[in-house]
Amino acid sequence: MEHTKLAIIGSGPAGYTAAVYAARADLAPTLFAGQTSGGQLMWTTEVENFPGFPDGITGPDLMVNMRKQAERFGTKILDKNVTGVDFSVRPFKLQSDEMEMTADAVILSLGAQSIALGVPGEKEFIGRGVSTCAVCDAAFYRGKKTYVIGGGDSAMEDTLALKKFAESVTVIHRRDQFKASKIMQERVLSNKKVTVLWNTAIKEIRGDEVVKEILIETDGKEQTLSADGVFVAIGHKPTSELVAQSITLDEHGYIVTRQSVSKHGVAAASGALSEAGLVAFPSMTSVEGVFAAGDCVDIRYKQAITAAGQGCSAALDAERWLESQE
Ligand code: NDP
Repeated sequence: MEHTKLAIIGSGPAGYTAAVYAARADLAPTLFAGQTSGGQLMWTTEVENFPGFPDGITGPDLMVNMRKQAERFGTKILDKNVTGVDFSVRPFKLQSDEMEMTADAVILSLGAQSIALGVPGEKEFIGRGVSTCAVCDAAFYRGKKTYVIGGGDSAMEDTLALKKFAESVTVIHRRDQFKASKIMQERVLSNKKVTVLWNTAIKEIRGDEVVKEILIETDGKEQTLSADGVFVAIGHKPTSELVAQSITLDEHGYIVTRQSVSKHGVAAASGALSEAGLVAFPSMTSVEGVFAAGDCVDIRYKQAITAAGQGCSAALDAERWLESQE
């Protein structure tokens, strides 16, 4: 059976950044990229908020660059999915499609997926008027007519991001009250640029090259509205099924790390605090030697740059932990 010091599962910005750091620390990591390398950025067009690219870069190009950078320093990349893990034994065991591998440490950078509405036009126009990230894309909608679907905090945040640029922002929500926190609701409802369509469902997104209109239904009545941008903000699902039986997840399915100690009320495991009283390995999960980074731990920011930063932290933690085991 093949053995690696460090296995990294996932090939978004968190996974590749962890690989760059771990490879440069001479850990010769193995990265399982899955069958579709690159994560969610493979579905985006322009990325203008990743520092270092003043003219922007496409999501796929950014991910190809990250992969090359990880490979340059000796990361072994396998375009395979990990289908099973056993964290109850040391070294840890990973099963992939047609192989098994053991690893002294593991970094989980499994990502998250935005939940889709499942209406006609949604998939077709992604990147051409349909977006799942207003923080990333709001600036492209200067002076445009935009819609945000959802009633939670994500929808409120997207609305607030868009109102700075768009001519109008209409929130479409299926019920007659928001689920979002009061403070976020108030910020949205007090803004003159924002309209809310309550008890309304979006039925279809239409256009040609780009989005042109949406079909909505309120109290059984259908209506067509002209539209430039539709922001789907009905929640995210962390990709954590692989480890659901092996490590602690929070109530939404996000992986709990020692950094999330206060938020999730998970008592610092014995040895979690260093002499200085700091959490010794903040990115470590409930299993010693297993670390996590990126959208699978991050309910809040979910940006390429925050995921990359967390990937770096996880690699540094893993490196220090492996040293402590020698
Ligand atoms: P939520 O699950 O909280 O909200 C999803 C919203 O989308 C709900 O209003 C829901 O409607 C609606 N919805 C769900 N499915 C559909 C559907 N098929 N069609 C139409 N509408 C639908 O997800 P969020 O991403 O907003 O938030 C997730 C978590 O992250 C929360 O705990 C939130 O507080 C947190 N968060 C915190 C932020 C912050 O603190 N700044 C920012 C963003 C998120 P209904 O109300 O009827 O259920």
